[in-house]
Amino acid sequence: MTIPSSREACLALDAADPLAGFRARFHLPAGQIYLDGNSLGVLPLATPERLARVIREEWGEGLIRSWNSPSPESGLGAGWVDAPLRVGERLAPLLGAAPGQVAVADSTSVNLYKLLAMALQLRPERRVIVSEADNFPTDLYIAQGLIAQLGGRHELRLLPAGASLADYRAALDDQAAVLMLSQVSYRSGALHDMRALSAAAHAAGALTLWDLAHSAGALPLALDADGADFAVGCGYKYLNGGPGAPAFLYIARRWQGQATSPLSGWFGHAQPFAFEPDYRPAPDIAQALCGTPPILGLSALEVGIEQFEGVDMAQLRAKSLALSELCIGLVESRLAGQGFVLASPREAARRGSQVCWQHPQAWPICQALIARGVVGDFRAPDILRFGFTPLYLRHVDVWDAVEQLAQVMASDEWRQARFQARGKVT
Ligand SMILES: *Cc1c(COP(=O)(O)O)cnc(C)c1O
Repeated sequence: MTIPSSREACLALDAADPLAGFRARFHLPAGQIYLDGNSLGVLPLATPERLARVIREEWGEGLIRSWNSPSPESGLGAGWVDAPLRVGERLAPLLGAAPGQVAVADSTSVNLYKLLAMALQLRPERRVIVSEADNFPTDLYIAQGLIAQLGGRHELRLLPAGASLADYRAALDDQAAVLMLSQVSYRSGALHDMRALSAAAHAAGALTLWDLAHSAGALPLALDADGADFAVGCGYKYLNGGPGAPAFLYIARRWQGQATSPLSGWFGHAQPFAFEPDYRPAPDIAQALCGTPPILGLSALEVGIEQFEGVDMAQLRAKSLALSELCIGLVESRLAGQGFVLASPREAARRGSQVCWQHPQAWPICQALIARGVVGDFRAPDILRFGFTPLYLRHVDVWDAVEQLAQVMASDEWRQARFQARGKVT
């Protein structure tokens, strides 16, 4: 891929971009270049109006009747009770999942807990969860908590970041119950080969649980074709569902009805409104639900997912990589010798939709950039992270962001005291 050599060349690429029109669907704060859509996606323009309608009409007027489907007599009813599976069904094509396998509920952490427990139930004679030492901490914490709860008989076997397929094959022995991985590393953006690793897990008799937090809405996915058994992911990152949006979960049809969610709440019951005293699991994906769904969050997430309708995910991936390559090429040429070390894989096919730089002063540099309107983020101990969201970012944004970074470095601005203090959320 050749890197555009001027701002004008970037503008020309944007003029020819088949996805350019999608940018107009989002609220992008004036004077900002937002490179953090991998942490909190932007606001779709349609969201405030949709939420206002849900609040004023469905909640305000319809009240309890909104749980059911619209009634021809009263005109009231909003189908709230079906929202977790309805929104899951809308999301399924983005995940490469046939109908009936995706639900939207709870948080990614809670869904990990449920699905990891279900996967272990399906391999009762095995004791090992294989994962990556650099996996997102909540994934490891959830596994540790579940292991303790199950009596400490299981073991978490962690491979280093960058372990090869051969390393995973070696770790997947006859004690391996589950291979639990984030497809894209939150820290480096490194992308695992889902198909090859799922095949390796299956060859060893293990199941797979994929965390798609940095994949869903960021790259084409093929959960069914790639042989995933279970998957979870976030609604508030590339899916633009809003802060704390409900998460999603996927259970391959072949496992539905074979294992039971450990959080056996009434929404996972075969007939919640029969109010039976004993738990009887729903036979389908609804079994993974637990309690009353958060309708406001689900409504906002549904709008976020709607923004992907009509998007060719191959085009989205091509643009994501073009933006990432542009960032790498510009930083390495314009900021050579200034301490930025690429922390993401150099090979495009092995990267998700973010580019990370190691730098000893990553924190104050990130703060100085934010003060100039270029919003990326920092991940301890020394990573400057830029996320590329192809639906609303342009080549010229990357050009301008690197220009700002060059100015931050040339002016030594990052040394100012105001850029040294750390907030609670980085
Ligand atoms: C962002 C992220 C999460 C967050 O989980 P929550 O339960 O939504 O807080 C989990 N896993 C990965 C890989 C992430 O990147």
